[in-house]
Order: sequence, then C-alpha cells, then structure tokens
Amino acid sequence: MDEQNFSINTLCVQGGYTPGNGEPRQIPIVQSTTFKYDTSDEMGKLFDLEASGYFYSRLQNPTCDTVAAKIAALEGGSAAMLTGSGQAANFLALFNICSAGDHIVASSSIYGGTFNLISVTMAKMGITATFVSPDCTEEELNAAFQDNTRAVFGETIANPALTVLDIEKFANAAHAHGVPLIVDNTFATPINCRPFEWGADIVTHSTTKYMDGHGACVGGAIVDSGHFDWMAHADKFPGLCTPDESYHGVTYAERFGKEGAFITKATAQLMRDFGCVQSPINAYMLNLGLESLHVRMARHCENGQAVAEFLAAHPNITYVNYCGLPGDKYHALAEKYLPNGSCGVVSFGVKGGREAAKAFMGHLKVAAIETHVADARTCCLHPASTTHRQMNDEQLLAAGVQPDLVRMSCGLEDKNDLIRDIAQALDQI
Ligand SMILES: *Cc1c(COP(=O)(O)O)cnc(C)c1O
Repeated sequence: MDEQNFSINTLCVQGGYTPGNGEPRQIPIVQSTTFKYDTSDEMGKLFDLEASGYFYSRLQNPTCDTVAAKIAALEGGSAAMLTGSGQAANFLALFNICSAGDHIVASSSIYGGTFNLISVTMAKMGITATFVSPDCTEEELNAAFQDNTRAVFGETIANPALTVLDIEKFANAAHAHGVPLIVDNTFATPINCRPFEWGADIVTHSTTKYMDGHGACVGGAIVDSGHFDWMAHADKFPGLCTPDESYHGVTYAERFGKEGAFITKATAQLMRDFGCVQSPINAYMLNLGLESLHVRMARHCENGQAVAEFLAAHPNITYVNYCGLPGDKYHALAEKYLPNGSCGVVSFGVKGGREAAKAFMGHLKVAAIETHVADARTCCLHPASTTHRQMNDEQLLAAGVQPDLVRMSCGLEDKNDLIRDIAQALDQI
C-alpha cells in the first residue's frame, strides 16, 4: 500500500504487505532456509549486493522483511530489519557504528539488560560508555562526549524507571557532536511516540513487548530514519563510509545512501556474522500483534492511568511513577512527547519497603509475577530482586529503581478488576 497516505492505525493493519490478485490475504510464512537459483552467476550478484533477492534466511527472509517493512512504516523510517530479540536489536544498532576504541553516551535510565550489554559486554569489546542522567542539563550532557564518541542511546520511556527521555535535548547534543541518536522505543511504541519526528536517527524495539503484545514471541527490530548523513562525518564512521573488504569493497553509505546504508550494513555484515535472526513463524505472529497494536495501546494506557490514579490515592503506597499523573516528575515531558498516552506500565513503592513489596505481590490474583511487561495479561515484577539484581544500590538508584519498587504492567483486562485485585492485596499486608 502507499504508506504515505494512510494513518498509523491503517498501517498497523495493512502496512508492509499488499497482496496481488489471487495471492494470500494474510502474509505468507516462508519457512525456508534457502532459495533456489538457475545459475551461479545470478546468486553471485546477490552475494555482492549487486541485485536484491533472497538466498539464505540468516541474512534475509521474505516474511521477516514484510513485517520489518510494516514497522518501518509505523515509525516513519526508511528501512528496518527484524532481530531475534530486543537485546540483539540494541547490540547490532550500536555495534553497526561502534568498534574497539569507540565510546557511547547513554542515558543511565535504561533497561537492565541494555545497561549490562553496554557497561559490561561491550566494554570487553573495547567500547566504553559514559552514562548520564536523563534529567541532566545540556552542559552536563555535552560534557559526556569524547572525541571517540560514536552514538548516543536512550529509551523513550525507560524500563522499569518510567523516566521520559527529552528526545530533542539528546538529539541536539548528538548532532552537535556529529553522531546519531539511537532511541529504544519499546514502551511507547510508534502509536504513542515516533522518535524520528523529534530528531532521533535510529529506533530500536524489543518486539517481545507491546508489538507482539501476547507474550508469545521474543523478537526485536531496528529502524533507520534515513536522515543521518554518514558521509558528512565519514571520519567517525569508517564502517559505513569506507570499502567493506568482506563485500568486495562496497562502501555502504555511497551505494545505499542515507536511506539504506545503516540497515544494509547491519544485515549484510552483522547479521551474516552474528546470526541473531527472527524466525519466519515468529515474524508472522509478531504481525498478528501489530495488526491490533493501535487498538491495544489505547486500552493499556486507559488501564495504566486508572491503576496509577488508584495507587496514588492509596495510603499504603509511598510513591507512584506514571507520567500520565499530573504530579509526576515527567508529566510535562509526557505532554510533549506522549500526548495520547504513554503505556500500561506503572511502578510504585509499597509502605514497608522491600519485604512489603514482595508480600503484596504474593497476594495478587489477577496480576501474575513474571519477568515480562506489555502483555495482554497483567503482570508484575520486583526488579531489585530479579532483573536488576546484578546492580548495587548506587547503580539501582542511578537507573531510577528503588529497592522497594514494584513494576506492574497493566494488561487488557477490565480496569475495575485490576483495581479490586490490587486493593485486596494491599489490605492483606
Ligand atoms: C525487554 C526490553 C529489551 C530487551 O528485549 P528482549 O526482547 O527481551 O531481548 C530492551 N529494551 C527494553 C526497553 C525492553 O523493555
């Protein structure tokens, strides 16, 4: 379909795939590792990136590409790729432009797995990072940059701290230093925020969350805005702006331009070498989730808002983080970046601290204890004893995670049932 002319709601349902006469209405699952050619010369052109086509599903698969095209349309980007997980998406997005000796500026308020990836695993690869508070001043942000900085990273709505990123502030600083801003847009989804409209250059997703929405498939996606001019900063991005000897000397930024270079390199080089692919059947199920993303997000937000308001008025709750509450620290940023709602995730403290938080969770009947968010079913987690247990108290606080914090992901159930469940659990502690 002509993606320019339709609203995001229509793109959720029909974007990325327009069947021809007599073709399947639902996207075909091309469950094949490989593709057949009549001559070796034809296949050779694919290897040299001189022709486009499929030859091996570790690099590209038609089902995955169809779903990636829908996600690109939803974000308003020029190109996209699926990955096997959100972790893989963030790793490939960063590693596509950073190598040993390079440096990343990242918001300190990010997903624990991504914090580990950047601060521990990428450090072992010789890539260092400086973490800044998402609330830092422009001066503090600018001071974090070094000559070898190659990317800036943040999350639109941070998991689990629920801080809201001032995308324009981070984009302006990144661009002033000649590097792109990468934004993990998992929690907001393109329904509630499109980071490219605020200056972000690359968007990543854990599609495991709202995009899939049913707790069915782990997956990720990377989307390029097509706006960043790699060639204008060629000295910083030799991987994109000088010949790739592993691809017969192709220079990605020259051959594929601003719109295609980033995703082509990440596919042809990194996916080839790391192989963290999404399977065609998972891409198919992800697409089923995407077809109702716009309908589901509204209900997740409605339930999140109702639960946050109930908690904020409850005497056994010490604080509530939800940017939809007028008193929230991030309410003003949310009004700017998330005018239609944020997400269904609410975090809060229970009177009595760490132990009371765990006891409260044990009494819940509708909400289940899970290492998950953004599911149709309401779930909750105590990050300090689970996802963030590798962090010390100082790191926890920098990540916006108090030891007594409970993260609740409001699903698609009736909000009154969710509130009754929370009320009875609080009454028992
Ligand atoms: C879950 C999550 C990830 C990691 O994604 P996986 O699909 O679990 O690998 C990355 N970023 C954010 C914001 C997340 O919520």
